[in-house]
Amino acid sequence: TLARLPYIKTIEQFDFSFQPSIDKKVIRELAGLGFVERSENVILLGPPGVGKTHLSIALAVKAITAGHRVLFMTLDQMLTKLKRAREENKLEKVLTTLVQPKVLVLDEIGYMPMGREDASLFFRVITRRYEKASTILTSNKSFVDWGEVFGDPVLATAILDRLLHHATTLNIKGESYRLREKRRAGLLG
Ligand code: ADP
Ligand code: MG
Repeated sequence: TLARLPYIKTIEQFDFSFQPSIDKKVIRELAGLGFVERSENVILLGPPGVGKTHLSIALAVKAITAGHRVLFMTLDQMLTKLKRAREENKLEKVLTTLVQPKVLVLDEIGYMPMGREDASLFFRVITRRYEKASTILTSNKSFVDWGEVFGDPVLATAILDRLLHHATTLNIKGESYRLREKRRAGLLG
């Protein structure tokens, strides 16, 4: 499995006319991978179905093609892995494997509320990667709601401080592509 990508999607497959809130120029710039060279982050925000995972995979595919080490995980998968590692006294080792990839995609931040332990494990990953490697994050929650997501406004601020210091944020507004497909098939009203 290629960097554990759940499936392959490309930028060429993305219909920008359907999602006008996305600046095509910004995506084209990101696809040039300057952000990877500079160890900057990419944060994709927006409601379900607007293409956050698609675009994060498409950027991951670009990075793999350019020869970078890439790892894709949902936040939930990463936290499960880290908590198991802690129980098995392998936390340090697993943290190292999460710092090594030049691009780490963490998909679906905000769907599950995080406990203190989750939030502090996430903080450790972000702190270690800070200014060393790029992290691509997707979330259905806007930054103002991250305090609630992380269950701790102070920790959320510290996380955002590092993440946003060198980052491109895309606020995707618009309709779900999934629902559009359903509508077209006549499955919705
Ligand atoms: P999100 O992660 O924001 O919930 P996804 O990236 O999973 O949404 O998109 C849902 C589905 O719709 C995927 O199959 C994706 O490839 C497709 N999709 C979303 N937006 C577009 C678009 N603008 N053009 C083409 N396919 C899209
Ligand atoms: Mg998604």
